[in-house]
Amino acid sequence: MTSLRTRERLAQRLLAAGLEDDAVIEALRQLPRHLFVEEALASRAYEDSSLPIGWGQTISQPYMVARMTQALLEAGPVQTVLEVGTGSGYQTAVLAALVRRVYSVERISSLQARAEQRLRALKLRNVRLRYGDGSTGWTEYAPFDGILVTAAASGIPRRLAEQLAPGGRMVLPIDCGRGQVLVRLVKKRGGQRSGYQHEVLEPVTFVPLLGGVA
Ligand code: SAM
Repeated sequence: MTSLRTRERLAQRLLAAGLEDDAVIEALRQLPRHLFVEEALASRAYEDSSLPIGWGQTISQPYMVARMTQALLEAGPVQTVLEVGTGSGYQTAVLAALVRRVYSVERISSLQARAEQRLRALKLRNVRLRYGDGSTGWTEYAPFDGILVTAAASGIPRRLAEQLAPGGRMVLPIDCGRGQVLVRLVKKRGGQRSGYQHEVLEPVTFVPLLGGVA
């Protein structure tokens, strides 16, 4: 059920879906996704689908985890990443395998506590987690080279964009009224006159980004 063969099959499926960053695929191949879902769903952990994790939330589809990670890393070197929406901690663990330091915020305390247990059990020492509203970022550790948001916002969250380092990028789903799209926002370099540029990557479906805590 959780054999290397099922993980390998998932990796092959991601390659077939057009993902091409070997390091990202390898990170997913190595990670035991069955540890990030309830035992009753463990037999489905290596399907390329999102799965319920309680409190109306989901662990993201592996394709989407890989796609967002690739979109974040392919535009240049990234050392520090802020993730908004820890959920199960799966995306956090993928990032932890690829960058120097990951900061992740979750607004549902039970999910945050479970993710913390899992990541501790996996001995991931370059991850710092916080319970709270991640839509305002984490100013203490800003600026970040990358920000990855795993829930759909209704526009670019200004407080997050401000916490990007020059040249840094944010990958996030945005609900534009006619559906959700995955967007990559890049903060231009260049002092006072710096601005942002964005590109739309593909249509997506995510739970909403909510303010406050639960
Ligand atoms: N990447 C996660 C994984 O693989 O398990 C999936 C996360 S799930 C799709 C989105 C998460 O964002 C949920 O756990 C939800 O509670 C969280 N969320 C929504 N709005 C948030 C906010 N403002 N701050 C922090 N977390 C938030």
